[in-house]
Amino acid sequence: MEQRAGGRPNILFIMSDDHAAHAMSCYGSRINRTPNIDRVAEEGMRFDHCFCTNSICAPSRAAILTGVYNHINGVRTLSDRFDGSQQTMPKLLQQHGYQTAIVGKWHLGHGGESDPTGFDYWDILPGQGDYHNPAFIRGGEKRVVNGYATDIITDLSIDWIRNRDKDRPFFLMCHHKAPHRPWIPDEKHARLYEDVEIPEPETFNDDYSNRASAAAAAEMRIDRDLTKKDLKIDPPEHLTGAALKSWKYQRYIKDYLRCIASVDDNVGRMLDYLDEEGLADDTIVVYTSDQGFFLGDHGWYDKRFMYEESLRMPFIIRYPRHIRPGSVDRHMVLNTDFAPTFLDYAGIPVPEEMQGRSFRQIVEGERPEQWRTSMYYRYWMHMSEHAVYAHYGIRTEQYKLIYYYADALGTKGSTDDPKPPEWELFDLKKDPYEMINVYDDPDYARVVELLEKELYRLQEEVKDEKYERPDSLHSR
Ligand code: CA
Repeated sequence: MEQRAGGRPNILFIMSDDHAAHAMSCYGSRINRTPNIDRVAEEGMRFDHCFCTNSICAPSRAAILTGVYNHINGVRTLSDRFDGSQQTMPKLLQQHGYQTAIVGKWHLGHGGESDPTGFDYWDILPGQGDYHNPAFIRGGEKRVVNGYATDIITDLSIDWIRNRDKDRPFFLMCHHKAPHRPWIPDEKHARLYEDVEIPEPETFNDDYSNRASAAAAAEMRIDRDLTKKDLKIDPPEHLTGAALKSWKYQRYIKDYLRCIASVDDNVGRMLDYLDEEGLADDTIVVYTSDQGFFLGDHGWYDKRFMYEESLRMPFIIRYPRHIRPGSVDRHMVLNTDFAPTFLDYAGIPVPEEMQGRSFRQIVEGERPEQWRTSMYYRYWMHMSEHAVYAHYGIRTEQYKLIYYYADALGTKGSTDDPKPPEWELFDLKKDPYEMINVYDDPDYARVVELLEKELYRLQEEVKDEKYERPDSLHSR
């Protein structure tokens, strides 16, 4: 097979919004099947330890575009606007001859300095966008497109590929809005799962004991915090307690999975299109999501926490010329690594300033000499929607150390309502569901010492600052 002129691959980056890995059958889902998405993993590689550096929409998108942490790219919270004048991976690809496009959810503000930059073509949903008959903004012009968002985003993406300049490689970000709250399925999938009971997760009835206060304080509980808009109908009047909670879970998870079924169909359409056009061999296809999500885990929906279900991003990648089909990898890769990896594949030098690192070698089945054995995480939106305490921490292969500094620090998008700081340590080997905080267990004193040291080392390495409690708070 001849590689196309120039030898640089096309890159099709498909990202959905809030699609947790444990709702993909290639990751062993117990609750649904995603046959089309699975094709990418079966014909390529699945990453089991891909993590986001801040589990929330806009910040993760900013990290992906820039290859740097949120305290560097300026999008720490949902209230920060993205400064499009900074260096980004799409800009570099564009400057080096790639045709670049983004279609679908942008979610980094629009108008003026927050409009997408580095793209030859952009056609985006304003804000969260709508599931049905969504408005799109193209080159500053807003219009309504009739239909279902996931189908339309795929149609527009395929149209753009079809009309591209065939002499140059392309980079396309196809960003689905689904399966983001409020989880509104299309007609085709509206009755899927109607007659089945979706299994509840192991930690569905977590009582938040043996943890720092943050878990109990969070307002994202299936039994208490889902709204009428989420559930769409009123619960049967006779239901109370555990039965009512189970009913709400079924309402929530079925709509979430129905939205995913449509994403899965549309990923299938994209893959089929690449096949028909003879593009499959020369195109890197990635499927990922901006972060994970709680699917009833810990009794929750939503994300934000550094706990596994939210921290973990699905990441599967196919490139037939270079990836052994059905590969699985457990190196720790981060959303800040995506930009350097794509630049690497495009033969473009990775700027010094990028904090992520290309994992191309790993994708191609090699073992890099030195690779990270710990990662740094920070969630800034103290006591904003869902009342999650601000925290930072590190994850290693076996442990996770979290520090809830629990202070807004004047950050836009946070609430000035400080709480006493607390630590959590989980032994992921013994306690994969993170149910027992062993921070104060004397058996782990040495581990705590080492991990704290590593936390501050990493924090310094990524140029973030250690939290120092203001004197005024010590007396509260
Ligand atoms: Ca998201």
